[in-house]
Amino acid sequence: MPSGVLYEDRQLGPFPLQRLKRVDRPTNLITGDVKRIDGRETAFLRAARGDYGEAVKRESSRRSRKYPLYTAQREVMYHLNTIKSNDVAPARAPIPEDPKVLSRHIKRLGYFLKADIMGICRLPESAVYSHDNQGNPIDIDYPWAIVIVMSKERQTLNASNGNDWMGSPLSFQAYQPLGIAAHTIANYIRKLGYQASAQTAGQYQVLMPPLLLWAGIGEVSRAGIILNPFLGLGFKASAVLTDMPLAADKPIDFGLQDFCRQCQLCAQMCPSNAIPMGDKTMYNGYETWKLDERRCASFSMLNKHGTMCGKCVHVCPWNRPYAWQHNLVRWGIERSSLARSLAIRADRALGRGKEGGNDDEKWWFDLEDVDGVITIAH
Ligand code: SF4
Ligand code: SF4
Repeated sequence: MPSGVLYEDRQLGPFPLQRLKRVDRPTNLITGDVKRIDGRETAFLRAARGDYGEAVKRESSRRSRKYPLYTAQREVMYHLNTIKSNDVAPARAPIPEDPKVLSRHIKRLGYFLKADIMGICRLPESAVYSHDNQGNPIDIDYPWAIVIVMSKERQTLNASNGNDWMGSPLSFQAYQPLGIAAHTIANYIRKLGYQASAQTAGQYQVLMPPLLLWAGIGEVSRAGIILNPFLGLGFKASAVLTDMPLAADKPIDFGLQDFCRQCQLCAQMCPSNAIPMGDKTMYNGYETWKLDERRCASFSMLNKHGTMCGKCVHVCPWNRPYAWQHNLVRWGIERSSLARSLAIRADRALGRGKEGGNDDEKWWFDLEDVDGVITIAH
């Protein structure tokens, strides 16, 4: 009987995923009636097309060049996205065909490439966009999705207030290494003789939220995005689709549906009232707190004090660091509704989430590119 890290259940990455409660289905209701989404109907593309008005369309067109650091990141990301897929090796590599061993091997590779969390799920057919951004039909058929998660840089996340000039750079600070990791893993899997496709920012052929749910990365939150118990809302994800035989992780339940029902902080702090205060509703087969995408995208594009908005991400109490005192709270929240209620009250009493960013840690300059001239932003 072989032994070693590939054959055991010991922790592979920085977080104790083995301690999370695993369940057979995500904690929000999902009916069989889920339709594939057209990639051209996402909020950013609708904003760029003019669906949200001329002013939003105009600001959307200059968003990528509005802030010099963000522009620099986008230009590097553009080159990453021109990476061509290598050919699939004609013969399979002589490695074990055991799904559990291969899953641990690929997850460990992800951590080697600086991932914070790795997960695997079956690829739901409904998670594949029907058309890409250019309107070409998408016809892909992979059984497995490998999900790669990276945290946004915590110090800058705490220094920023969410709707300032670091909103977009914080996202791309994670998207760039995610792109490198996803392309490297896909390239490697093809060298082993299996099909693989990297899914990265600007080139997604799949919706990431269903993958994050089924791979056990997080639960649906009131903010309309997936929340992870160790990273809160402060992370980004990419994926690799493959036919390599793998073993799926199960979804997780850490009490978030009840917590978000009681908390409402992101909805109270949202400057555009895009996050609902009430109960979850059904949308395209998913029970969810449905974000008003038009309000959110319009506010983000027209934001005169930054590149985007991410206020909801910054105020969420789940962004607390992975440290013993917060872990104790996490432990209670996972187990008891009373603990959830007490944690929310304590968070409010301490005034957390209300304040802006931590100015003491602010290292960036507020600059705006106006018609090609870099000016001091106000
Ligand atoms: S990003 Fe800003 S505008 Fe959009 S939902 Fe979050 S807080 Fe509201
Ligand atoms: S701020 Fe509160 S309600 Fe909003 S996502 Fe975080 S925990 Fe849920």
